[in-house]
Amino acid sequence: MSTDFYRDGEPVADAKAPAGPIAERWEKRRFSGRLVNPANRRKLRVIVVGTGLAGASAAATLGELGYRVANYCFQDSSRRAHSIAAQGGINAAKNYRNDGDSVHRLFYDTVKGGDFRSRESNVHRLAEVSTEIIDQCVAQGVPFAREYGGLLDNRSFGGAQVSRTFYARGQTGQQLLLGAYQALQRQVAAGTVDLHTRHEMLELVIVDGKARGIVVRDLVTGEISTELADAVVLATGGYGNVYFLSTNAMGCNVTAGWRAHRKGAYFANPCYTQIHPTCIPQSGEHQSKLTLMSESLRNDGRVWVPKKKGDDRHPADIPEDERDYYLERRYPAFGNLVPRDIASRAAKVVCDEGHGVGPGGLGVYLDFAAAIERLGRKAVEAKYGNLFDMYERITGENPYERPMRIYPAVHYTMGGLWVDYDLSSNIPGLFVTGEANFSDHGANRLGASALMQGLSDGYFVLPNTISDYLADGPFEAVPEDHEAVVAARRAVDDRIAFFLGNDGDRTVDSFHRELGKIMWEYCGMERTEEGLTKAIGLIRSLKDEFWRRVKVTGKNEQLNQELEKAGRVADFLELGELMCIDALHRSESCGGHFRAESQTEDGEAKRDDANFSYVAAWEYGEDAPVLHKEALEFEYVKPTQRSYK
Ligand SMILES: Cc1cc2nc3c(=O)[nH]c(=O)nc-3n(C[C@H](O)[C@H](O)[C@H](O)COP(=O)(O)OP(=O)(O)OC[C@H]3O[C@@H](n4cnc5c(N)ncnc54)[C@H](O)[C@@H]3O)c2cc1C
Repeated sequence: MSTDFYRDGEPVADAKAPAGPIAERWEKRRFSGRLVNPANRRKLRVIVVGTGLAGASAAATLGELGYRVANYCFQDSSRRAHSIAAQGGINAAKNYRNDGDSVHRLFYDTVKGGDFRSRESNVHRLAEVSTEIIDQCVAQGVPFAREYGGLLDNRSFGGAQVSRTFYARGQTGQQLLLGAYQALQRQVAAGTVDLHTRHEMLELVIVDGKARGIVVRDLVTGEISTELADAVVLATGGYGNVYFLSTNAMGCNVTAGWRAHRKGAYFANPCYTQIHPTCIPQSGEHQSKLTLMSESLRNDGRVWVPKKKGDDRHPADIPEDERDYYLERRYPAFGNLVPRDIASRAAKVVCDEGHGVGPGGLGVYLDFAAAIERLGRKAVEAKYGNLFDMYERITGENPYERPMRIYPAVHYTMGGLWVDYDLSSNIPGLFVTGEANFSDHGANRLGASALMQGLSDGYFVLPNTISDYLADGPFEAVPEDHEAVVAARRAVDDRIAFFLGNDGDRTVDSFHRELGKIMWEYCGMERTEEGLTKAIGLIRSLKDEFWRRVKVTGKNEQLNQELEKAGRVADFLELGELMCIDALHRSESCGGHFRAESQTEDGEAKRDDANFSYVAAWEYGEDAPVLHKEALEFEYVKPTQRSYK
C-alpha cells in the first residue's frame, strides 16, 4: 500500500541465514563461508569506522587475523567512544547461578523481549556466542565482580527471571572498552591497525556497486582526505540524539549510517526507539543531556507513586498503604524487573493520571529503603555506590535517605542499517556492527544485551563472515582520481562550503532542540496517526528553514564544533522524517513502538502479526522512501501476546 509518504518496493530476504536446526545454523554458516589464507589477508585492507565496543573489538580481531585495518573515531581517544558510559552489565547464558538459565532461555527471553520483531537465527547465535564473550573478556583481564566463592557474580535485568548479567560495579562498559582498547592497541603496536582519532567520516565511496572507501574530515585541521579499502565496516553507534535530549553522549549521531543510506544502504525499523524507565527527570529547558540511572538499580529499588493524586508530602511521610507499587501490582511475576518498554509506559500512565512526583509531576520514586533495611547500607553502597553518588551530584538529594526520582528518557535505538546474517548491508562490501545495525533486538532491547551484541558482532561474528566476502579480493585498486572518489569528496566540500557561507541567523542547536521536541512529542513514548502526520509536516518545514537560516560560525581549517553539529543535524532532520514515516506506516504496537490506536484492554501493546510481522527496510528515495519488507518467521518461539504478569 503506497501512500503520499512512501512507495512500496520489492521484498528483501536474508539470503545468508542457513536453514536447519537453529542450534546448528551458526556452525553451519562458519563452515560454508569461505576463508582467506593468512598470507592473503595481508593484502586486504578493511576500514572500521568506530572504536566503541563493536568497532574496537572488530578492528582488534581483524588486525590479529592479519588484515590491514584503518580504524576511525571522532573522539580524541578511541577509549572515549560512547560505550564507555554503559553502566549496568552484559548478559551471558553461563548459568553460574544454577537458576535455570541456558542458551535457549536467553534466546527465548530475547525474542519475546523484542516483541517478536527480530530474527530467530540471529538471536540464537547471539545467545550462543554470549558465553564466549565472557571468557574472552576475563582472559583480557576485565575486572568483573565476583562472589565470595570466586565465580563471576551475576545480577538480574529486566525481562528475565534468571540472573545472567555480568557486571563491573556500575562501570561495565568502561571496563569492557578498556579490554577492547588494550586488544586494539596491541594491534596498533604490531602495525596491523592504523588508528585515526578526531576524524569524522562524512561520505561513503562506492565503486562499481561495492563499498570501497570513505571520505573523512580531520576535526582539528579541517583537512579532507580519502581512505580506500576492500571493505568498509560501520560500527558507528546509535541515533538516539535525534531527540536532542537522550542518555547518549552529546556527540552520538547518525551521519555515517545516513550517508551510507543516501548511497543505497537500507535503513531498517528506524522508528524502534528504546525509552529507558530509570533516568533522572529533566530539570529545565537549559539541559542538553539526560542521565541514566542503570537498570541494575531495579534489582533492589522498588518503584512507587503516591496513591493520592498531587500528593506532595515528603516520601517518608507517606505511609505504606498510601503508596502504589504499580509494577509489583500490575506484573506480579516480574515485578520491578519488567522489560523497559513496559516499565516506561507504566510510568507514563501513572504520571498522566496525576500521581507523578517532583517538578511538573513527571517522576516516580525508586526507593531503596527496603533494600537498605534488608542488606544494610554497606552492601547497597558496594553494589551501586557510584550510581548513588552520581544521582546526588546531579539532584542534590541523598538517595540513601530519600527515594530517587526517575522518569523515562530516550536511550537506545533498535533500528539501524539493514544487515543480513553475515552483518553485510545490501551494498556489497559494507558491513555494519553494534548499535549501528538494526540488530537482534526487535522492537525492544532487553537490558545488558547491547554490550553483548556489540562484542558478539566484533569479536566473533564479523571476523568469521567478512572473510566470505574478502575471499574474492583484493579488488582492483581504486585511484584517488576515480570519478566516484572525486564526486564523494566534492559532496563533502560543497556541504561544508554551504554551511560556512550561508547568511543565516539561527543556531544549529536551536534547530536540533526543536526537532527533538517534535520527535519526543509525536514519535516518543506514545504515537498516533494524527500526531505522526503532523510531525512529518513540522519536520519538513523545519528542514526547509534549516537550509535557509542556519548560521555556522568559524572556518573549516580549525576545530569547529558548530560545523560538525551542522552536518549531524542536517542528517538528523532527514532521519527524523523517516522515523515518523516508519512509525506511521506500522499501525500496530510492538515493544517500544506504542501506537495508541493499537492496545489491549489493559493498555498493553497490541501487535498485528498478520500484517506487520516483518522488518521494514527503507531505501532512500529523492521524492519518497521505498519500503522493502523482510518477512519474519518463527519456528521456535511462537508469537504470543507478551505477558509479564
Ligand atoms: C548511559 C548508558 C548506559 C548504558 N548501559 C548499558 C549496559 O549496562 N548494558 C548494555 O548492554 N548496554 C548499555 N547501554 C547501551 C550500550 O552502551 C550501547 O548500545 C553500545 O555501547 C554501543 O556500542 P557501539 O560500539 O555500537 O557504539 P559506540 O560506543 O557509540 O561507538 C561509536 C563509535 O563510532 C564512532 N563514530 C560514529 N560516527 C562516526 C563518524 N561519522 N566518523 C568517525 N567515527 C564515527 C565514534 O567515534 C565511536 O568510536 C548503555 C547506553 C547508555 C547511553
